[in-house]
Order: sequence, then structure tokens, then C-alpha cells
Amino acid sequence: MMTRTDTAVILPKELVPSDKRFGSGPSKVRPEAVAELASIASEYLGNSHRRPLVKGEIERIRVGLSELFSLPAGYEILISNGGTTAFWDAAIVGLIENRSLHYVFGEFSERFASLADASGVLDKSFRVPSAFGTHPQPVDSVPHDIDVVALTHCETSTGVQMPVKRPAGVSSDDCLVVVDATSAAAGLPADPTQFDVYYFAPQKCFGAEGGLWLAAVSPAAIDRINRIAAESLSTGTRYIPNFLNLAQVIDNSRLNQTLNTPALSSLFFLRHSVDWMLNNGGLAWSTGRCLESAEIVYSWAEASEYATPFVAEPSQRSNTVATIDFAEPIDALQLAAVLRSNGIVDVESYRKLGRNQLRISLFPAIEPSDLQILTGAIDHIIEKLY
Ligand SMILES: *Cc1c(COP(=O)(O)O)cnc(C)c1O
Repeated sequence: MMTRTDTAVILPKELVPSDKRFGSGPSKVRPEAVAELASIASEYLGNSHRRPLVKGEIERIRVGLSELFSLPAGYEILISNGGTTAFWDAAIVGLIENRSLHYVFGEFSERFASLADASGVLDKSFRVPSAFGTHPQPVDSVPHDIDVVALTHCETSTGVQMPVKRPAGVSSDDCLVVVDATSAAAGLPADPTQFDVYYFAPQKCFGAEGGLWLAAVSPAAIDRINRIAAESLSTGTRYIPNFLNLAQVIDNSRLNQTLNTPALSSLFFLRHSVDWMLNNGGLAWSTGRCLESAEIVYSWAEASEYATPFVAEPSQRSNTVATIDFAEPIDALQLAAVLRSNGIVDVESYRKLGRNQLRISLFPAIEPSDLQILTGAIDHIIEKLY
């Protein structure tokens, strides 16, 4: 066996994917989108975000996403700066009324619950946890003081997907279903009647860049946001920072603009991906592509002597982020290092999960054929090193 530093395996040409980016965010930006941006760069980049050129991109993003998700009448797409992390803070001051319920099964779902607890403006959250690598069972009945149920469609840190389903017996007048779809939106099927807020950032399934957040919101969510903002103004009991004011986000989004200056390249890449998905068949197509990729990676791992899907229950294995454990004596960090020395990047597992694991993005932009090649490359490296 070779030592960890001895990573000189050069992959043969046929085992080098056409694109070597398999990170779960930032993720592969499609070369076609980059080329198109380059071709219009001098007319597009560096333009005012208050002029029709950029506002037109935001309008197409909002209309296109409504179409992609088949949003019912009255639902809207919100857009603002700061990524999903900023949305969490905005939700804590302007969407959760008193107390939220969180399904906690990984780093991201845990973080939202912890931020809510640390805020000082909400009652202590109700947590429904499960072991990492599984998702919690939905509660039979939601406690009466809960006004937001926080779901995570794909827990990116563990590669677990959880269905988006409104709990039985709760009405969106009292309790909103708020879904972190950061690494799921466009990659996993979702029925909009089952959520009130479906939020995400464009650097995952949409192959754009970080720094924005978007959300599909129901009429009930819009009412809640506007009511909390109005109460905050009239009673002064809850301070809502300007940057996190969701009522302001609604107003700006309706004008196809963001509160402050957005990254124009990110808007371009997002719009480009939405068009790409719609032109190819919409959500059925983009989720189908992820399903095809998932089948390639999980069936390879199941058939392998040394690789196993980390998520034991097949229905809980994410179609957008695959986590694959490796058995002794294989060292996943070494595998990742050898892949990296061949230009294949970002398959290291989520650092805090601490497993002997690779994490492989299955986002729509990634060619299923490249995943097939990647599994061959991993087999080849293992054969050479062990
Ligand atoms: C990446 C990710 C986040 C954080 O997104 P940022 O845009 O970096 O703030 C939150 N939740 C999930 C599920 C994620 O995958």
C-alpha cells in the first residue's frame, strides 16, 4: 500500500471527465453559459442594475422559475442578496412569528435551528432530529404553538433527501411550511401546494454563482411577511434590519430589482440555467437528469466491494448530492487528493461529518456520462494504490 503523500496516479485519457468539477457548491458553471456571457460581456457587465437590461434578466428569472416550479396563481418569486444564510436571518426576524419546528439531520438544518434559538426574538425551537445519514420521520401532529415548519429538501452535508410535504391538519393561515431547497431546487421534484416558502441559492442546482437567495412564496407567506413587518413598524417590538426586511424584498422583487447591487454575472448564469432547463423540458427534465446521475453513482457504489452509499435507505439517498463511504484500507482523503492532482475537484466529504467518504454532486449541469467516467476513475485509482 502506498502512503497518503504518494499520490502519483495519472488517469488515462478515457477516465478523465469532460468537466472536472463535482463540487456541491460552488458547483460546475456550464461552459456554454460562460461563453455566452463572454460574448456579451461588454454590453452586459458593468451596467446599472436599475436599467431595463438587468431588470429584464431578473424578470426572466422570476417568470422562468414560476414556470419551472409550476407555481399556482398568487405564488411569487422573491430575490435578494446574501445567499441562503442571509435568508435564514431574514426568516428569523420577519417570517417566523414565535416558534419554529425544525427537522434536524445535518449541518445546514441544524444551523437554521441554532440561529433561530440564538436570535432572542423567538421561543426555543422544537427540534425533530435524526441520525446523520437518515431523515427524521415527520411528526404526526404539529404542536399548537408552532407557526413555521422548517424542512430541508436535500441536506447537503449528508446527502439525504426528504420529501416536501405539508403536515396533516395544519393550515397555512397558522403554520407555514418553509423549505431549504438550496441544493434541491430544480434537482428534486416538489409540489408547490406542499410548501409556503421554497428557498435556495443559485450556486448549487442552477450552476450559477453564490451571493443571491431566491424563494418561491405562497400568498399565505406573503401575508405573514407583510403583517410582521407592519407590526414591527407600528409597535417597535421587533427590530427588523433594513437588509433583512422581507417586506422590502417583496416590493423590490415585484419591480424586478434587488435592494442593493447584485452580481450581474450571477443573475446571468441563473437566467441562463433556467432557460436551459425550460428549453429542455422543464423540471421533469432537470430532475430526470439528476435521477439518471444518482442511479449511476449509487448503483456503482452498491456493486463495489469497497464503496457503499452512506445513506442506507435508498429512498432517502439524494438525487442531487451523493455521499459514498469507503471501507478500510481505502482512504477517501487520499482518493480525493489523487483525483485533485488529475484536475478533478471538490469531491471531499463535508468536513464536519468526519467520515471516510467522498461527496459527489449530481446537479443538473453535471453530465451523467461524466459521473460514469468518474466512478471508473475512482476504481482505477483504487486498483493502482491498494
Ligand atoms: C449551501 C447550503 C446553504 C448555504 O448557502 P449559502 O448561499 O452559502 O448561504 C444552506 N442550506 C443548504 C441546504 C445548502 O446546501
